[in-house]
Amino acid sequence: MSRLVVVSNRVAPVDEGKSSTGGLAVAVLAALKRMGGIWFGWSGEVTTTPAAQPRMFDVGRLSYATVDLTPQDFEEYYNGFANSTLWPLFHYRLDLTSFTRRQYAGYLRVNNLFAAKLAPLLQADDRVWIHDYHLIPMAEALRRVGFGGKIGFFLHTPFPAHEVLLALPSHDDLVRALCAYDVVGFQTSRDLNSFRDYVTREKVGEMQEDGLTRAFGKVFMAAAFPISVDTVNIVRMAEAAAKAQQTMRMAASLGGRKLILGVDRLDYSKGLVQRFHAFERLLENYPENRGRATMMQLAPPSRTEVPEYVDIRRSLEEAAGSVNGKFADIDWVPIRYLNRSVNRRTLSGFFRIARIGLVTPLRDGMNLVAKEFVAAQDPDDPGVLVLSRFAGAAEELSAALIINPYDTDEMAEAMQRGLDMPMDERLSRWREMFSILQENDIDAWRQHYLTALDAAPYRC
Ligand code: UDP
Repeated sequence: MSRLVVVSNRVAPVDEGKSSTGGLAVAVLAALKRMGGIWFGWSGEVTTTPAAQPRMFDVGRLSYATVDLTPQDFEEYYNGFANSTLWPLFHYRLDLTSFTRRQYAGYLRVNNLFAAKLAPLLQADDRVWIHDYHLIPMAEALRRVGFGGKIGFFLHTPFPAHEVLLALPSHDDLVRALCAYDVVGFQTSRDLNSFRDYVTREKVGEMQEDGLTRAFGKVFMAAAFPISVDTVNIVRMAEAAAKAQQTMRMAASLGGRKLILGVDRLDYSKGLVQRFHAFERLLENYPENRGRATMMQLAPPSRTEVPEYVDIRRSLEEAAGSVNGKFADIDWVPIRYLNRSVNRRTLSGFFRIARIGLVTPLRDGMNLVAKEFVAAQDPDDPGVLVLSRFAGAAEELSAALIINPYDTDEMAEAMQRGLDMPMDERLSRWREMFSILQENDIDAWRQHYLTALDAAPYRC
């Protein structure tokens, strides 16, 4: 069988015992661990003297190949075009989107560099699977250096609505670059529709009757492949973690109070300030919860060199301080706000003892925390998921309490409903969501995608 070569910005040799705070790393590792393959990407090192050849090492059935970035690459490609242009734009934050030609040139340069360093490692029948917004132009770059095999792409973030994407000066080049893949995978049908909408409205292509897309002289498959979690493994992990010391410590510290839990990278797309305000509204409108419910927010810092991430951290500290100042009692602090990451094993134990999982992003490609929360529940006493309609996960997990994160009152009502929800309703909602995760787990996701890639090249 041909080899699978996965490419992503960061390569993450993680296991459950270590903390890793990004959906992509967690999901790609779970997908690759089972079948083996090569994982190529940035080492995470920034140096003025990058090695000429990729660094290679093996972990189990997986081979890693990593390259370093220069300070200029890091600034222009990573902090710049990827995280100050594409990330905010794809999350509908035009107010935070900046664009410079210099950063865009840096983005293209690093994509070319990745292609040039990867090409010598490739065999003609390899299947190359490229991940996420950092590397959209990489298929074109690989074709230029002569690779003729199958190349697929999966976008972990949302794909923005047509009118939003038009704000990007290089939107046409970016979409043309996407159309160079054999398979373009999105998280949800909403993202797929946005892409199709762009193609038809900008008159760069058309949908064929067989469901394939024809654009820029190429025929390819664009489809939704909702990413998922390693359901069986999370169930096992959560069962064991329920008896672990950290979980016991947490449960003891709650003193019988119900736990409302949020777990998110510290990112403006996650709606954390709005969430804190909604919890404040809960305490205002339903005073019986004062002293009876505790909210814990885990928010490990990320992208700390991008100024907007410094700002969001400050806003959150202010919001948590203000709620706590207003409602705290001598033996109860309403919001426990921790700026650090927790490993996934420990997390699964926390999920299991939480009455409510709060997943309220303003925009999110999928949000794996939502799925992990569901998978980790005790089947005899499951908690309630409060989920933003703007998370990709809401398409599958419609049995959650679906909220609009811009509506503070609605979020507070949903929390109240979750705190009061009778057991039979909790059970029926949870069972519906859990059965979806049993069917569409991380293996199903990988298989669906690779089946589509194996069928390439597509022809008219
Ligand atoms: N995560 C973790 N420790 C933390 C916070 C998050 O291991 O302290 C993991 C979490 O379990 C999930 C991933 O990081 O697997 C976050 O993925 P998600 O899709 O929710 O959001 P992203 O960070 O990719 O935007």
